[in-house]
Amino acid sequence: MRIFAIGRNYAEHIKELNNERPDEPVIFTKPDTALLYKNEPFYYPDFSSDVHHEIELVLRICKEGKNIEEQFAGKYFDAIGLGVDFTARDLQQKAKEKGLPWDIAKGFNGSAPISEKFIPVQDFKDLQNINFSLSVDGTIRQQGNTSLMLFPFNYIIAYLSKFFTLKTGDLIFTGTPKGVAAVKPGNRLTGFIENEKMLDFEVK
Ligand code: MG
Repeated sequence: MRIFAIGRNYAEHIKELNNERPDEPVIFTKPDTALLYKNEPFYYPDFSSDVHHEIELVLRICKEGKNIEEQFAGKYFDAIGLGVDFTARDLQQKAKEKGLPWDIAKGFNGSAPISEKFIPVQDFKDLQNINFSLSVDGTIRQQGNTSLMLFPFNYIIAYLSKFFTLKTGDLIFTGTPKGVAAVKPGNRLTGFIENEKMLDFEVK
């Protein structure tokens, strides 16, 4: 099981980090040791002083495939969950300045809390119009809608599958909207898809 993630998929988030708008999706991965399930607390790591929350919709792959055509990509994921792509922004910034990989900034232990529940794709009226959000201590910090993605789900799957055979159970974090910010111990993070609470955990 692998965890793929897309960077820079929402224009307003690209602006807030002063990044360039990519011509193709920016891809990175996280190891499975990054996952936190069942609203387990996130333990703030001692190697960073600037860990940011990034709320993201997560696709669950249901069928093995490579070189998938965009028009058939919808057959390869069956459910959508919610996750946080925790990012050690200070470590990422150092890596970016030197042109080095982001692995430790993005893939450290516990950097990928995901919802227990994944909502079946057929329960959504329109995959291009899904609202999701993140609150910190009861205040909304990030709100996204899939209509604002630069690269929609099917494009992401087609693109990823050129390089990586996708396998059943793989997860794809599909990018974060604007509003990323630092977390600190004591914060409580609550994530929603539409009005459904999907995540609710503490930073310790
Ligand atoms: Mg992200």
